[in-house]
Amino acid sequence: MRTLRGIPVSPGFVIGRVFVIEDQETLRVQKKGIDPADVPAEVERFDFARKASISELDELHKSAADEMGKEAAKIFLFHIGVLNDPSVLNPIKSKITDDLVNAEYAISKTFTNIAKKFANHPDSTFQSKVDDLRDLAHRLLKELDTNQKVSIANLEEGTVIVSRDLTPSQTAGFDRTKVAAFVTALGGPTSHTAIVAGALNLPAVVGVKDILPAINDGERIIVDGEKGLVILDPDDETIEQYHQSQIRARQVSLSLHEYAKLPSITADGVPIQLMGNIEFPEEIEHIEQNGGSGVGLYRTEFLYLTRTSKPSEEDHYQAYAECVRLLDGKPLTIRTIDLGADKYTQEQEENPERNPYLGLRSIRYCLQNQEIFRTQLRAILRASAHGPIKVMFPLITNISEYRTGKYFVREEMEELDEQGIAYDPDIEIGMMVEVPAAALMAGSFAREVDFFSVGTNDLVQYTLAVDRTNERVASLYTPIHPAVLKLIRDIARAGRRNEIPVSCCGQSAADPAFAALLIGLGVRTISATGSSIPMLKKTIRGLTVSRCERIAKKAISFDSEAEAASYVRSRLRKLVPEVFDGRPVD
Ligand code: PEP
Ligand code: MG
Repeated sequence: MRTLRGIPVSPGFVIGRVFVIEDQETLRVQKKGIDPADVPAEVERFDFARKASISELDELHKSAADEMGKEAAKIFLFHIGVLNDPSVLNPIKSKITDDLVNAEYAISKTFTNIAKKFANHPDSTFQSKVDDLRDLAHRLLKELDTNQKVSIANLEEGTVIVSRDLTPSQTAGFDRTKVAAFVTALGGPTSHTAIVAGALNLPAVVGVKDILPAINDGERIIVDGEKGLVILDPDDETIEQYHQSQIRARQVSLSLHEYAKLPSITADGVPIQLMGNIEFPEEIEHIEQNGGSGVGLYRTEFLYLTRTSKPSEEDHYQAYAECVRLLDGKPLTIRTIDLGADKYTQEQEENPERNPYLGLRSIRYCLQNQEIFRTQLRAILRASAHGPIKVMFPLITNISEYRTGKYFVREEMEELDEQGIAYDPDIEIGMMVEVPAAALMAGSFAREVDFFSVGTNDLVQYTLAVDRTNERVASLYTPIHPAVLKLIRDIARAGRRNEIPVSCCGQSAADPAFAALLIGLGVRTISATGSSIPMLKKTIRGLTVSRCERIAKKAISFDSEAEAASYVRSRLRKLVPEVFDGRPVD
């Protein structure tokens, strides 16, 4: 038995079996340990695949030479050359022989290493061959007995996916009936992969540095999404303890359920609107079961991330109309696509940016890809004819971005008028405040926008200069930081002065301590992961606004984030012990 530590990003306990996805950037194959006695057979499998690939490539070379000419056909000679090159063959064979791993894994690992070297080579001739190497590796893998390749599509129930990293779209594509949890070696606390895990109710631990060398497929594993622990090859006693933890967690969730039906109101009678964040329309049912009063953030970019082709206007419209139908009169805030950073489309993946969080993401991407943006806006407007919808622009940094976005909305309205298509002419158009510049200029923005929604996931990363997806700096990612709190206070103040609503939809809003601070800072609407709503309601009902205000004022006055966080948690532990007992102390 061995216990590894990581960052807990989605709660729950799972006892399952490992499925390793090695290096998702390139080839997805299963890593299997082999018996020393099976080494010759495994090497033979590889040789068989290599020879079959060479004869295929030979055929391709001949037909390409006829159809496209000798020069163009030369590429296949390069492929054949690689498959005969000892500097490629030897590492594959020695991985099988010395590391006792299956041929698929040895091929994938070797080709990934060579592709990386080519990609980083100063000579562009090498760089241009990276895709050829990937092609070759795929060809070899195809030639190996396909039954040996366990596809992610035919996993067994209770599978725990273990990978170096996962993209949000990979995570969103997991078969929920089979995948019970996941663990990654990389990743930070509010990466979108982590957020999707929460949305799918999948316990997850990220940033488990040493996980990959330590495990093999099929091994038993416990994932503790509360404490961020991963237990490999657990003994019977530990398994029993975790069975008990699972039972207790189910009881707590059942006992919290009574809160779902109670009003969200502070002990001194101030209503706090509690809404849910969604990535997919199907999550609305979960929000409603947990007592949410609508959707405060719909991350619509997942329409792009879960399919290979661009969604059409109709695809957008169907998704939004479905949300409106499910919400049955409750409000829906649709955030326009927030692609970029860790949410890449195929096209963006092929042209990576050096610093994607400071690059062409969110509203910037939309304003440079107007067709995509206008298609979405039309669909939102059409859906607004059926129920209460608000539009929200992400990552607004300067006022001209907001104005241009709004101008496009108006233009699309005119088009719809001409075509006699119904929409809500009074649709509210708001913005996320998730960039420090926007927070500092909140007074100016508040005179023009219809509402603010504070996005702490990004606001924290940009204010503290901490990449939200990087496990190496995860301990510096601290939302209860006086600098962050001051910005939120100023945003809320600007909202009040200009009589526009201010909500918060970042992940930290799901933390009862942070939610209490938000109330103290003047925020009256919170939008969070569905499963966090009952606990938030319990917290809100146990606190008065004036108490929250005093706590927030004091927290802001500290010189350090450590003092602020420890003060807030210890105060709240006293005030609402039933919520905070048993929670980790920062
Ligand atoms: C945020 O930044 O807080 C937010 C809600 O947006 P996202 O997590 O999608 O970047
Ligand atoms: Mg954001």
